[in-house]
Amino acid sequence: MYDVLTSRYGFSCPSHGETHVALSSFRLIEQLPGAAHPAVYHVRFACACGDEHDGLVSHDDLDWAPLGLAAGEFLNLMTSRIEPVSLELADLAAARIGAGEWPWSFFCYPEEQPRAVFPSSFSLLAAGDDQVGLAVRCPHCSRLSLNLVSREHVDVPFHNDREVGVVEHVFHDDALETLEAFRSELWSASFDARRLTLE
Ligand SMILES: [Zn+2]
Ligand SMILES: [Zn+2]
Repeated sequence: MYDVLTSRYGFSCPSHGETHVALSSFRLIEQLPGAAHPAVYHVRFACACGDEHDGLVSHDDLDWAPLGLAAGEFLNLMTSRIEPVSLELADLAAARIGAGEWPWSFFCYPEEQPRAVFPSSFSLLAAGDDQVGLAVRCPHCSRLSLNLVSREHVDVPFHNDREVGVVEHVFHDDALETLEAFRSELWSASFDARRLTLE
């Protein structure tokens, strides 16, 4: 499902059969009601074929696989053996989190402070040429914030932009229900810069 070496999620495409997309190509992420453990997420993603498709992602694949916690195997060129890559990456991720680094972060506007976050809290995404608009539901205060970040900020764990764009607006709970509402809000909004330094 998630390939840790290419940082891509695998989905099926009606015209190509199979496709691999980065997290920044996701457009919508929503937890399916019911199956609480393990949680399953419905995602809509922008495919290389030009269309958007729907797919399902497990909570593990969404939040933990990019950190190597559900990774497959890799070919060790020193020993010519296939070895599990997961333990080494997981140790590295755990060490960095322990040292106060976070794999993903965003700026919570209602709280006026940066917050650590996991991809399952990214509810809506829109990609420009090199920037990504991101609606995040804060895991602390449950409110929505709209950030403008780099692709790497989304796709590369532990790559956090020093500064992100923030829409200075407190959104109602149902304000960004649909992709259409989100996109029109995003393209009409003005962004203010905020430092994204997690203490
Ligand atoms: Zn496709
Ligand atoms: Zn918050």
